[in-house]
Amino acid sequence: MTTRQFHGVGVSPGVAVAPAMLVRWAFPDVPDRTVAADQIESEIARLADATAAVLEQLGELRERTLQRAGPEEAGIFDAQMMMVQDPQFLQSVETLIRKNNFSAETAYEFKALELRNLWQGSRQAMLRDRLADLNAIQLRMLAHLLGRANEEAWLGGIDQQVVIVARELSPGLTVQFDRDHIVGFICEEGTRTSHAAILAHSLGIPAVMGLRGAMEAIHEGALVMLDGQSGTVILEPTPDDLELARVQTSRRHKLELQLEGIATEPAETPDGTRVLLTGNVDLPEELEPALRHGAQGVGLLRTEFLVTGRTTLPTEDEQTEYYRRVGAAFSGNTVVVRSYDLGGDKFPSAFTAPHEANPFLGWRSIRVCLDEPALFRPQLRAVLRAAADRDIWLMLPMVISLEEVTETRILLAEEAESLRAAGIRAAADVPVGVMIETPAAVMMAEEFAAISAFLSVGSNDLTQYTLAVDRGNARLAKRFSPLHPAVVRSLAHVRSAAGRAGIPTSMCGEMASDPMSALLLLGLGYDRLSIAPPAIPLVKLVIRSVPMHAAREAAEAALRERSVAGVEAVLREALGRHLDLRLVDPGSALPHPSTGASLPRSS
Ligand code: PEP
Ligand code: MG
Repeated sequence: MTTRQFHGVGVSPGVAVAPAMLVRWAFPDVPDRTVAADQIESEIARLADATAAVLEQLGELRERTLQRAGPEEAGIFDAQMMMVQDPQFLQSVETLIRKNNFSAETAYEFKALELRNLWQGSRQAMLRDRLADLNAIQLRMLAHLLGRANEEAWLGGIDQQVVIVARELSPGLTVQFDRDHIVGFICEEGTRTSHAAILAHSLGIPAVMGLRGAMEAIHEGALVMLDGQSGTVILEPTPDDLELARVQTSRRHKLELQLEGIATEPAETPDGTRVLLTGNVDLPEELEPALRHGAQGVGLLRTEFLVTGRTTLPTEDEQTEYYRRVGAAFSGNTVVVRSYDLGGDKFPSAFTAPHEANPFLGWRSIRVCLDEPALFRPQLRAVLRAAADRDIWLMLPMVISLEEVTETRILLAEEAESLRAAGIRAAADVPVGVMIETPAAVMMAEEFAAISAFLSVGSNDLTQYTLAVDRGNARLAKRFSPLHPAVVRSLAHVRSAAGRAGIPTSMCGEMASDPMSALLLLGLGYDRLSIAPPAIPLVKLVIRSVPMHAAREAAEAALRERSVAGVEAVLREALGRHLDLRLVDPGSALPHPSTGASLPRSS
């Protein structure tokens, strides 16, 4: 049998091998049914009953999620609960029942289809991203109105280990996955920012998303092997593939054992250069792993989870409490709070976001914060209050102009003054730094360095905007590389601008979690790396193995290269001289993603 290998977007790391279980919940066929005039009121009552029943279900799911994953994930169901009771939508269904004598399910289906088509065709990434939520609530409503079991019914029937293959997964379903039986999942739709991907990650279920055509290519019961790190999926793996997976798993295990002891060791090169290794924290649940893996503070505290998926914005007190909690967990170290990076695909449901043709080039991040002081000021106040007792810095994302920094400083000073006048305990100021995520910020790194307390490169966005390659588009995955010479040269430029200004420069994008890129960053002079907590030990191993002069030489050689492949080759070779590469890349047992075939495109 020939091995078939595909590549999607790895959204939740780990390897899973199990038979595929295809989940095809299609929207049910809803018969066109009309009712007699005297039954109209009872149809409207049925609609209200179904809404109440679905709300109750969602409330239960919310509770269960709260137990299993945490309050931020549970907030997803707040958004679904809001959607299900949308008064305008329900009114339109009721009007249809009254005007056309339709049954409740016929009218609901009609309006639901209208809305789905509208969202599906939308150019707004946020709406498309939330389509899974919309589909999930519509399925629930129709199941109730038709008196059928809904999409979750099959969950009870799984009694062996499986890899779920679906077109898309709703967060409601993902959170109920029983880890003993559902060992992985593959989805045709979705990216790293989809709710289901985020949940899979925090539940520790390996997952690959954005694998177009998966439902056609993978048959029910076929053995599937997936790597949720690289996004590689192997269909009907051969005994050799399986053996490689076993080797890979045992290498991973061995490496983990080897790395266990490293948490308390310093991140220092053999010739004595110290690196500050901090953690990126997106959710409160990541605090514990960050501490366990030896993070020396938080170099990127993402704050979007405080607002997305919720029906109301968090209060100043709530935020203060969260920042204080993180500060206390890393007492003695710095916590860098990033101001809301909303927009693109991340908007809180409490917020009316505009329709935009190009959301990733649109109203987002610092632009939203500065235009909406009612959103931004409470965050600034919370940061100042938490900074009264802890070393808390403020970091601004997606900056393109110096005015964005000066305007933020003015707001910050005003809030500090207002807190002082009100007698509320708060710091008088906090260090304000800038994320280098756009070519504009790279070109003006010197000017930004002159007015900032620190610079921090966000390589995910910097790569996206430098190469004009969407970071979440599975089809472009091979073209998205922070090791592109244009990005590598930008990194060197930023580092030397900050060095001349004598301010700290860090890297908080995903590239810092990759051993080869970590070597490059070290050689370029980045002595602060902020990374996903589970990657800290491995990056520390790289730092402890490669002498600074060798890292510098490798970075200089990489800067002379003219292609991604050239840069990769230089770094791989340099790293290989100091470390067993199989050790730092246990995934090498699975074929490298760039050599993988793509699934046929679904039409
Ligand atoms: C980045 O863009 O590299 C970054 C760290 O920010 P985010 O991934 O949250 O956009
Ligand atoms: Mg970014």
